Amino acid sequence: MSLLLPDLESEDGAEFWAGTSRGELLIQTCVSCDTPRFPPRPMCPQCQSLDFSWRQASGKGKIWSFVVVHAPVLPAYQDLVPYSVIVVELDESPNLRMVGNLLTRGDGPINEIDPNTIVIGESVEVVFKKVEDVALPCWMRSKK
Ligand SMILES: [Zn+2]
Repeated sequence: MSLLLPDLESEDGAEFWAGTSRGELLIQTCVSCDTPRFPPRPMCPQCQSLDFSWRQASGKGKIWSFVVVHAPVLPAYQDLVPYSVIVVELDESPNLRMVGNLLTRGDGPINEIDPNTIVIGESVEVVFKKVEDVALPCWMRSKK
């Protein structure tokens, strides 16, 4: 049963995934107009420049939205429902939203958090969960 995992060698995403494997959340940023973008892609959506650099993000953000998955579409997720999938807006820019799971610990299961306790606007921090050969960005509630 296979999990949904990214292509680590894709032309646009390879640098991003190399970063997560080192524990870094790298964000592609336009050299011409300084606009950050995600997911990685060749051209700046603001100014159409093809020049970019990679900058390390703080890994901090807020829950912008979430869904609770009850009926899995893939067999590998059958035993995990219900689990939540959150959309995080990074502190660096409202342009930067990432989809992931909310965990209680970096190696925790994706269904450990009661979805009824999730609040839009909650502060979260990135954690990199090792899944097969991928360091997958996931999220934990910020400690206050
Ligand atoms: Zn630009």
